[in-house]
Amino acid sequence: MKFIGAHVSAAGGVDQAVLRAHELEATAFALFTKNQRQWKAAPLPEDVIEKFKAACEKYGYQSNQILPHDSYLINLGHPVTDALEKSREAFLDELQRCEQLGLSLLNFHPGSHLMQIDEDKCLERISESLNIALAQTQGVTAVIENTAGQGSNLGFRFEHLAKIIDGVEDKSRVGVCIDTCHAFAAGYDLRTVEECEKTFKHFEDVVGFKYLRGMHLNDAKSEFNSRVDRHHSLGQGNIGNTVFSWMMRDARFDGIPMILETVDPEIWKDEIAWLKGEAAAEVAA
Ligand SMILES: [Zn+2]
Ligand SMILES: [Zn+2]
Repeated sequence: MKFIGAHVSAAGGVDQAVLRAHELEATAFALFTKNQRQWKAAPLPEDVIEKFKAACEKYGYQSNQILPHDSYLINLGHPVTDALEKSREAFLDELQRCEQLGLSLLNFHPGSHLMQIDEDKCLERISESLNIALAQTQGVTAVIENTAGQGSNLGFRFEHLAKIIDGVEDKSRVGVCIDTCHAFAAGYDLRTVEECEKTFKHFEDVVGFKYLRGMHLNDAKSEFNSRVDRHHSLGQGNIGNTVFSWMMRDARFDGIPMILETVDPEIWKDEIAWLKGEAAAEVAA
């Protein structure tokens, strides 16, 4: 079973995100549980938590169909101690919000070395940050997203993801989310079935599908291997539709939230319907 949806707005409260996903006829969704551009947020009110849970129940979303995303400000590999502490506190708060909402995954961008420490040192800091946060929470898996490798962002090589996982003590609570636009921009080709097979064979060898907890389905305005992160609607960018159709027919992508972060929310419903159709074609075959 494929779970397909989009990163919907939580304006008006996190419970509103569930309604928006339902309106898209989505079987998965992503959301921010607080304003993603601010450090501090008020705690989630009890009634909003209850409304969120009731809406998920009503519309049939279980925690393995929901992929909350953390704030863009957080850098778990920050080279400067004070700033690292601030990020670690904010990440713990994000995990606790997930706990409160009954969510089991938290998607985050690994971190940046800001040209002040080397890659390995930064990756070690990220693992350490995860160990600290996971020790203080329960039931939520930290899901590392691959990046396009803009600036000094790490996570653009599958080897980076593997190294972070390697440093995490509780392997049952760490996973990865692969963003197709980011992978393509980082030099993993996805334009033909052969290239898709090759890229995901490499993923299996380096990280392993057993760690795959989510996907971000985005076409790319950016060029192949450009290290630039610019999403596009499915089939309208430089990757093309092949990878999305291929993925919908591959059982290794079953049972995880597959989330659109494409640029035109007006066509999300159509994109979801198209993906569902491709997945149904697999079942029928
Ligand atoms: Zn993404
Ligand atoms: Zn992106």
